[in-house]
Amino acid sequence: MWYNNILETIGNTPLVKLNVIPKDIKATVLAKIETTNPGNSIKDRMALKMIEDAEKSGKLKPGGTIIEGTSGNTGMGLAIAAVIKGYKCIFTTTDKQSKEKVDALRAFGAEVIVCPTNVDPEDQRSYYSVSTRLEREVPNSWKPNQYDNPSNTQANYEQTGPEIWEQTEGKITHLIVGAGTGGTISGAGKYLKEKNPAIQVLGIDTYGSVFKKYKETGIFDKNEIYPYITEGIGEDFLPQNVNFEVIDYFEKVSDKDAALMTREIARKEGIFAGNSSGSAVAGLMQMKDRFKEGDVVVIIFPDHGSRYVGKMYNEDWLRERGFLKDEKLTARTIISK
Ligand code: PMP
Repeated sequence: MWYNNILETIGNTPLVKLNVIPKDIKATVLAKIETTNPGNSIKDRMALKMIEDAEKSGKLKPGGTIIEGTSGNTGMGLAIAAVIKGYKCIFTTTDKQSKEKVDALRAFGAEVIVCPTNVDPEDQRSYYSVSTRLEREVPNSWKPNQYDNPSNTQANYEQTGPEIWEQTEGKITHLIVGAGTGGTISGAGKYLKEKNPAIQVLGIDTYGSVFKKYKETGIFDKNEIYPYITEGIGEDFLPQNVNFEVIDYFEKVSDKDAALMTREIARKEGIFAGNSSGSAVAGLMQMKDRFKEGDVVVIIFPDHGSRYVGKMYNEDWLRERGFLKDEKLTARTIISK
């Protein structure tokens, strides 16, 4: 038995019980491990779906160039699909993203343009603006625009949501997901709420992002926006893929708590997860009073730890940011003579 190409291996990711970190929580806590996708993240699902839908609508033509502003994971999904389907890729990203993510995109033949992080989205140097300009200038190009493209939410409505429903045999009571473009939480959340409207959909947001305040007040507050370190979640604008009606509540998690929890997941659960998985588990612990015996909580683990070895998995990096003081998290490396 074999798959015809790597794209056929996308999806059907495992659901794994967390046994140690949430031991004070009476509920069953399950992590949906998206790193078994070929690009090691959940974004493979929506990347392929956006391409397939654009092929059907004629927006993406044979031999075309895919241009997108991406923090890496969407780029990886697009780049892999582009190899199989014969497209070129140009990605714009920010200087906040790990070098590993950029190098990995280049491995699939994609061109990557690194833009400054701390400029307004409207600024012509921003990674949004640069990708929009390139779309105008490069012939036969198409910009998926993952933030506003409904295929993003739809992929998670068609795949992630049903997988979780089936894997928990309909017993899920809470879904916890970090929100970036919003595609994962809105798509999976919508499907699950259609199955059982009592399911609580809990979003994880960062300090420095607008989602929580907007959900609670309906106000887009620019004062909420400031630089932060956590990767993949939170935004300084409202993407169309964030469906605020599907999301019951947002919990904010600090950069420090997210970084340290990312490491704890490796140490205590044996799962090498990315930064936003740490945010989501830190959010779970902050919200522990919401869960009772018999509840089944599913947390999405969007990507893999290998993309963060130079960051939260590096003690010097943690110390430079004040996330660690004198304590040592791992064994010393002893250079034997
Ligand atoms: N975590 C990581 C590591 C991501 O790359 C993303 C995508 N930005 C998310 C979480 C959030 O997923 P979504 O865009 O579907 O909201």
